[in-house]
Amino acid sequence: MQWEPVIGLEIHTQLATQSKIFSGAATAFGAAPNTQACAVDLGFPGVLPVLNEGAVRRAVQFGRAIGAEIAPRSVFARKNYFYPDLPKGYQISQYELPIVGRGEVEIVLDDGSVKTIGITRAHLEEDAGKSVHEDGRSGAGGMTGIDLNRAGTPLLEIVSEPDLRSPAEAVAYARKIHQLVRWIGISDGNMQEGSFRVDANISLRRKGEERFGTRTEIKNINSFRFLQKALEFEIERQTDVLENGGTVIQETRLYDADKDETRSMRTKEEANDYRYFPDPDLLPVELDDAFIAQATEDLPELPDAMRHRFMDTYGLNDADAALLTSSRAMAGYFEQTASLCGEARQAANWITGALAAALNKANLEIAASPVDAAQLAGLIKRIQDNTISGKIAKQVFEAMWAGEGAADQVIAAKGLEQITDTGAIEAMIDAIIAANPQQVEQYRAGKEKVFGFFVGQVMKQSQGKANPQQVNALLRAKLKG
Ligand code: ADP
Ligand code: MG
Repeated sequence: MQWEPVIGLEIHTQLATQSKIFSGAATAFGAAPNTQACAVDLGFPGVLPVLNEGAVRRAVQFGRAIGAEIAPRSVFARKNYFYPDLPKGYQISQYELPIVGRGEVEIVLDDGSVKTIGITRAHLEEDAGKSVHEDGRSGAGGMTGIDLNRAGTPLLEIVSEPDLRSPAEAVAYARKIHQLVRWIGISDGNMQEGSFRVDANISLRRKGEERFGTRTEIKNINSFRFLQKALEFEIERQTDVLENGGTVIQETRLYDADKDETRSMRTKEEANDYRYFPDPDLLPVELDDAFIAQATEDLPELPDAMRHRFMDTYGLNDADAALLTSSRAMAGYFEQTASLCGEARQAANWITGALAAALNKANLEIAASPVDAAQLAGLIKRIQDNTISGKIAKQVFEAMWAGEGAADQVIAAKGLEQITDTGAIEAMIDAIIAANPQQVEQYRAGKEKVFGFFVGQVMKQSQGKANPQQVNALLRAKLKG
């Protein structure tokens, strides 16, 4: 039986405001427990929330970045539930009237294909606090404390359509949203610190079937690798259930990275369990056109637009253009390299090739690259003006990466300059021809393959430095006899 996964993600991204969404307490990460929680965050009686304009502006910017309608009027609602880290007994969120309506983003998959993913809505809400289990234990023996520093931290919850069809697509989409929120500067996206968390909804249906199956929701995934693994596990688990004639139960599950499995947490609650109602303490958010226009104006060129521009201007394909726009730092590096060396295609090849591989291997961000844009441009110029061949350039790049200086320094220090002196190349060729009469005979008898042998010999003798075009031309002429 062939089963097709259907996946939709709910992503919580922390908005990078200095203070909380409804109070003046700081949002900075890492403070001692309960030192950044004021009376509002603690849910004391008689206090009133005051909306942080910075959170609203960031939500609007996200909406504009995905081409969504911004609601001129949105409403905060109380989502009622009990949990020790939620002292008010409700979370302030948005329900019926979210601030951001339907939008979309493009994802580029590993094979270079492009898919548009719908975003249903995005809404503002406050985060809850955190239970801290002593020694990682809770219950008998261990103590559990509550840290309310996180309570009231502004979140934007971004809900996708169930448009994703594989773990790889889900990861590409999550990466896309992560790229976008960092690109426009509304969130630091720090996954270790919990600033970017994913809930993954997944169901299976028979290939060709229209109707969706029953889904499970895997909560609070904080890495792209875990997202991939959790979904892979869940596909296998649901497949087993369905193939054995069972039914999938709609429930919330937790991914355990140590065991690489998902486990049931609770059966899924329905919206009416939360008794949503408009929060009487907060006025509706009414946005005027000027506010929206200003927030929009402050946006930089967006990644999809930039990717298309790179494709149009430099003739790059989707995959390369996507890699070059994976972050603003990366895009900046590419544009700087391209403008300094005047060779955009070469710059793109080097960055998506040797540089990306080296960064990957060293687990470095582009900003920490030991070879900066000006240095890479310097190397490309030396290929362009024939000082070195493309092959030798790889060697020069490695030396630059290892900190041996700029391209010119490395070329001079190692004597890597290309040999373009016709006389010198001819001398080498003459000697090789004289030393290999048998191969000369074979070549002249029509064995074309032997030509490669001669090229190899010249390259070996010149330590890879002979200009390949000249070697080819001179060899052809001389071998003719
Ligand atoms: P809820 O209100 O229960 O959270 P939503 O309708 O808001 O449910 O959907 C939550 C997420 O689940 C969305 O990202 C949506 O795309 C996804 N989703 C909904 N139905 C399915 C399904 N049958 N299979 C997979 N994902 C689904
Ligand atoms: Mg939901």
